[in-house]
Parts: sequence; C-alpha cells; structure tokens
Amino acid sequence: MRTITINTMALQHNLARVRHYAPGRKVLAMLKADAYGHGLLTVAQALKEAEGFGVADLSEALQLRAAGFKHVIVVMRGFYDARELPVFAEYDLSAVVHTEAQIVLLQHTPIAKPISVWLKVDTGMHRLGFAVDKIASAFARLTACASLQQPLCLMTHFADANESNPLTTARQWMQFEQSVRTLPKEAVIEQSLANSAGIISYPEIDADWVRPGIMLYGASPFNDYPASDYDLQAVMTLKARLVSIQEVPCGAAIGYGGTFICPKAMRLGIIAYGYGDGYPCLAPTGTPVLVNGQLTRIIGRISMDLIHIDLSDFPEVALDAEVTLWGEGLPIERIAAAVGTLSYELFCHVQRHRLIKKSE
Ligand SMILES: *Cc1c(COP(=O)(O)O)cnc(C)c1O
Repeated sequence: MRTITINTMALQHNLARVRHYAPGRKVLAMLKADAYGHGLLTVAQALKEAEGFGVADLSEALQLRAAGFKHVIVVMRGFYDARELPVFAEYDLSAVVHTEAQIVLLQHTPIAKPISVWLKVDTGMHRLGFAVDKIASAFARLTACASLQQPLCLMTHFADANESNPLTTARQWMQFEQSVRTLPKEAVIEQSLANSAGIISYPEIDADWVRPGIMLYGASPFNDYPASDYDLQAVMTLKARLVSIQEVPCGAAIGYGGTFICPKAMRLGIIAYGYGDGYPCLAPTGTPVLVNGQLTRIIGRISMDLIHIDLSDFPEVALDAEVTLWGEGLPIERIAAAVGTLSYELFCHVQRHRLIKKSE
C-alpha cells in the first residue's frame, strides 16, 4: 500500500512564513504543474487566504474558477491566440504579456471587457519577457489598448533561484528598477519580482506582489540550506509498506543488473513503490529512507513498482512496516541531493492518481 499525505496545516504555516519575510505584500501563490504535484484544488483551498494564484496555463486557471475561487489568477504563459482573449475577459484572468505578438493580438482583438495584464521584463534570465530598453514602448502600446484593464503590473523573474551567485539577483533587481525609470513618471503600476529564493534573500525588495512556489510546499529554494533553516514544514509525505523481507548471503547480487553485491550477509526489505509511482529511477544505492521513523538506505536499482532497502541493522522490523520515502522526518532535499536533481522535479513526478491520498 502506498499513500501520499498532503498536510494542509503545513501549507498554511508556510504561507505564514512567506508573510513573515514579505510583510504587507500581496501573495501570488504559485500553483503551476498541479501545484507542484500536490493537487491544484487541495492546495488552492488550503491557501485561500493568499491574494492570488499563479498558474502556467489557461486550463489550470479555468479549473480554479470552476471550483469557485474568486482570487486574482495570473496565467504565466499568457494568451497565444485571439480565441483565448475573450476567455481571459469572461473569467477575469490576468495574462502575462511577454512578447510582441501578444501586444498585436490585444490591439486587434475586440473583447467585451478589458483584461488585466502583467507585463514581463527580461532582466537577465533570457526566457520570457521584453528587454529593459523595450519596456517603455511595450507599456505605451499596451496602455493605449482599449482592452487593457488598469493598473498594469510590471514583473520579472529571477534566474538564480538557488543563490549560487547572489550578485545575479542584485543585478536583475537593478535592471528592473532601470526599466521602471523608463516609464512615464505619472504611470500607475504594480510590481512583482521575487520567487521563494528572492523572498528569503531579498526581503528589502519592496514590490506589491511576491510569487512564492517551492517554499509554500515546505522545501528549501537553496541547495545548501535545509528548509528547517527557514522554519518551513514539509507538505507532501510519501509512504509505502514493506511487502517482503529477504535474508541474503554475502556476495548476492541485488535487483536489476545486480548493481549491488552484498559485502556480507544482509537483511533486505522490499517496498511497494517504484519509478512507476514517480520515485526517481536514478536514485543510487545509499539514498535515504525512513523505516518506522529510523534512517536507512536504498540498495540496488529502483524497479517500476518495488524498491530494496537495507534492514541489516533493523532485525525487529517486520512485514507491513511503514517506510517514508520523503516528507515528514525526511526532507525532500536529501533525496534531491542524492539523485542530483531538484525537489521541484521530484514533486512534479509523483503519480498522485495512483496513490491513496489523505489530506490532514
Ligand atoms: C514557478 C514560478 C515562481 C515560483 O518559483 P519558486 O522558486 O518555486 O518560488 C515564481 N514566478 C514565476 C514566473 C514562476 O514561473
């Protein structure tokens, strides 16, 4: 049996932590990719005190409206074609405008109600957005559109989410300030810069909106500092049961490819979880797991539906014991570090529909 627990109290606690770092700012809780794999509607309900929700595309925004959420909803990819514009208007959704073609669409598509726009400045990530010296022109053309709702929000996104070089963010922040200075003095705008890493590292950035993602889910945005340093609580806990126990002799080759050869007689447990459920296939021998709350390790290769763990030091552990793969008691950063990936990716791969889900 496998379960995924989504601790909604932890979500609320983490939102309070965002407010601690960004007092008085509006919070756009980032819910893209099914709320980082935690479940869009469950998370939106738990975070309904946030002022707004950020999603990647229109379908996620419409799911939130269909569920009755009246919040500001910002669609990060914005609109792509003329047929989408009336949908933004009808459902009162905000669109990120990051490229020329979108301005042209807005100029040429008659819509019944004006729509709200977040204009994106590319301050150095080179992904979406207008270059700093193109912002004044984009702003002028947008604000001349009859179909634009005022005030517009000017936003940027930080490339250095993991703070390998704190100067990158400082430089981007200066570029953003520069873009604001190119706008007409009387222009009324809102502003939004920081993701989780920015919220924690640059509390002095004084913008209207912050856009936390990973910290709401209780994981650290930084590779080198655990979430507990920021008093964040794990939201998702994955557990599976021990379905078999094997006593194997010295020299036994374990699992697919026999990549692990037992250096001594060992006691192994097999748990009912695998890469088919979203556990990273490349997790190496030594990746930590908790059995009955105590730390042990994965042995050999991950199978589609099964994983070997080392029970040599746990003679008392019996069939049906509960094994935690990550979450409460085992921060997801530790798994991400062992695998060489990000907690973001691990969250997104969890096959929620295949697991029994409990919300607290
Ligand atoms: C995903 C995302 C965020 C949140 O980033 P975290 O590192 O998870 O806090 C903020 N802004 C934009 C534009 C995003 O796409």
